[in-house]
Amino acid sequence: MAETLSPMMQQYQGIRRTLPPDTLLLFRLGDFYEMFFEDAKEAAGILDVALTKRNGVPMCGVPFHAAEGYLAKLIKAGRRAAICDQVGEVVPGRIVQREVTQIITPGTISDVNLLEARRNNYLAAIFEREERYGFAYVDLSTGEFRLTEVESMAQLEDELARVCPSEVLVSEEQAEQLCALAAALSTRCDGYAFLADQAGFALRSHFQVQSLDGFGCTDMPAAVGAAGAILHYLKTGLRRQISHITRLTCYRNSQFMIVDAATQANLELVASRGGARDTSLLAALDRTVTPMGARRLRDWILHPLCKLEPLRERQDFIAELLAESFLLSQARDSLKGVRDIERTVARLNQAGGNARDLLVLQNSLKRLPDLKTHLRSLAERVSFGANGCGTGLRARTEQDLHEFPDLVSLLETALVDDPPIAVKEGGMFRDGYSEPLDELRAAGTEGKKWIAELQQREIERTGIKSLKVRYTSVFGYFIEITKANLGSVPADYHRKQTTVNGERFITPELKEMENKILGADERAQALEYDLFHQVRQQALRWLAELQATASAIATLDVIAAFAETARLFGYCRPELTEAGRLEIRDGRHPVLDQSLVEEKFVPNDVELDGGPNRLLIITGPNMAGKSTFIRQVALLTLMAQIGSYLPASRAEVGLADRIFTRVGASDDLSRGQSTFMVEMNETANILNNATERSLIILDEIGRGTSTFDGLSIAWSIAEFLHDRTKARTLFATHYHELTELEMTRSGVKNYNVAVREWNEQIIFLRKIIRGGADKSYGIQVARLAGLPPEVIGRAKEVLSNLELAELNADGKPKIAEKPPLYPARKRKKTPGLPITDERPQMSLF
Ligand code: ADP
Ligand code: MG
Repeated sequence: MAETLSPMMQQYQGIRRTLPPDTLLLFRLGDFYEMFFEDAKEAAGILDVALTKRNGVPMCGVPFHAAEGYLAKLIKAGRRAAICDQVGEVVPGRIVQREVTQIITPGTISDVNLLEARRNNYLAAIFEREERYGFAYVDLSTGEFRLTEVESMAQLEDELARVCPSEVLVSEEQAEQLCALAAALSTRCDGYAFLADQAGFALRSHFQVQSLDGFGCTDMPAAVGAAGAILHYLKTGLRRQISHITRLTCYRNSQFMIVDAATQANLELVASRGGARDTSLLAALDRTVTPMGARRLRDWILHPLCKLEPLRERQDFIAELLAESFLLSQARDSLKGVRDIERTVARLNQAGGNARDLLVLQNSLKRLPDLKTHLRSLAERVSFGANGCGTGLRARTEQDLHEFPDLVSLLETALVDDPPIAVKEGGMFRDGYSEPLDELRAAGTEGKKWIAELQQREIERTGIKSLKVRYTSVFGYFIEITKANLGSVPADYHRKQTTVNGERFITPELKEMENKILGADERAQALEYDLFHQVRQQALRWLAELQATASAIATLDVIAAFAETARLFGYCRPELTEAGRLEIRDGRHPVLDQSLVEEKFVPNDVELDGGPNRLLIITGPNMAGKSTFIRQVALLTLMAQIGSYLPASRAEVGLADRIFTRVGASDDLSRGQSTFMVEMNETANILNNATERSLIILDEIGRGTSTFDGLSIAWSIAEFLHDRTKARTLFATHYHELTELEMTRSGVKNYNVAVREWNEQIIFLRKIIRGGADKSYGIQVARLAGLPPEVIGRAKEVLSNLELAELNADGKPKIAEKPPLYPARKRKKTPGLPITDERPQMSLF
């Protein structure tokens, strides 16, 4: 077969063989990137370009100057693309040398145009070893690199949901086992890269350390495997330059509040569930003004802390900025001028980048002295907290914020105000920056001046008024004479080309000058290219300081955004404790509080503890505000644990180790099709994993099945949580029967959302008050919805009949009769459901 292939196709096949099979090869041919064979068929579909055939080979191509947009489409479609460029000189008759210069995968994009500025783009790796699960992830565009190890697939799944990587590396051998977690995103890699020896070596040699002790991950072999595989993949698989990955952060789950995938979605932490508006917590809190801050905020929301000290530091910093609100607004103003230093530096370091990146750096760095001054003034003015001394988050942020006077002045003297995107075409450097460059430029300019004057001289010499000296990139300089004047052409003109209107000539003199100019231009461009590399190298000498500064800016931006939100919406500083109490006065839902237009949000109190207020049953009619209230409590707890102030007049928050949420099947809008089974799975997860320090939010549990089943399950779950788990729990339910639990359980308190009946209408007061709802008001809500009056009337009749049957012969509520079940852990039978006996009497419809 090889004999029948042209030399070019042989070259193509040779390069193709060095790439993993599922990588699209974009092969530079003249002004196009071409794809062949199966690649062409697939790409033509994704890119919506014409599929053609040459010598029976399917092919499609995209113009190289528009390649970026097409690449973006391929990457968005989850594909990998290898860019193969011409690297040698073009010699006629010989095939030009080509090389793969970049392999781009969804997890390793570094092009600004392909990246979302306000969120990270992660490449992750997962690895199982002796039933421990290693997880590592890197953002190549920023250099952030983290690893951890967890005990179960479920926890690994939660980590994946939290980090949300664009690509996940899995060892070939474990693909079957682990791919279910991230099937669509997974890239299979050679298993040996994950093995302890190889991975440890990869990490040690990259970070140039003798041992991994300093990273605190020696007891995490599975995580080391995953991290090592990432380095191997980037360096060997994708041929990337990754020296900007300078740190490796090892974290443990216990450091952070656990936010499982279901809770993240239920509470709409970083993304809302459909709908035109973004109703996520992130959207409500995001008043950051830099991309670094936006990314950091997202990260904090997904990683709430369980330790008092770092949270109090964040609060102190916010408090200081609020106390000096003038400095807050000045700091935010200065931050607005700071662009994405973090990604710019990473791009420059990966042998990419251009003079505009250097300019971005220059303009951003110029803001730093101001920022530093604001932070210093803050330190001088505040009279509380860790004021002035060298500890605390504010002090550390100030220390990490470097100023770069030398770098700024270097960039200022070197770069023109508006440099081009291209790095090989000159025009980047100022006159006076480099003497040799100035000389080359002068030579070029003088030549051009000579040519500019040539036209006038030749018009005078020949008497041809219409004579023109022109230039094209293909033919160079020439003198153009129209047909009518060809008779007056002097003898020293040599004809070069004939056109429709006349002829083009060259003179020996002009030819010589052209060589000088073009030579000078070419050499000037080459010199500028060298100078660019030198300046870039200079800038990268400050890599560590630049990265630290970018990180400090991210922190400052988030803290200032917290302060700004607190200022705008009257938030309070919650008192954080390690006691298991939660008390909020006049709490508001952070998202609705900002977005309600027609009604004003009605604030509510809550009091939860491990004792008498352990389990709150919230009843009330549909639409009263139950779901809003319990989510609000969960969101406020989470906000407190990312260091934010709270929309409340006063708050005490005992740190939770974990927030669980479970939303009943029919109340879960976006997952309307979700089955009762899913609901029960998630509930089982809560019952099995919650601790006394957890906060549990249950919304309409048991709704996904028949009334009796549902009520029974809800009832026994509530008892179990109260008696056994002892976690702080909010239980919203439309089963007002559950309020009877308060009679038999000391830690249960009933609340309901107040409504007022008026002319058989229902008015929602949105106020949470003590006591159970006396009825469901389903009929009134149905009336609101416009059910026909006959139906409403009949429903009332049925209801009053049913209500007669709810009490037993002694007038006691039937469901509450049973003695407590759960304190006795071991029972012969599995705990029965307390209401089974009542079934026949209570048969409803
Ligand atoms: P339920 O879960 O009881 O059926 P929701 O919590 O879904 O009710 O609330 C229904 C609507 O009531 C919400 O969409 C919101 O617009 C409004 N609402 C809820 N709580 C409040 C409040 N405290 N103040 C103002 N409006 C509220
Ligand atoms: Mg609800």
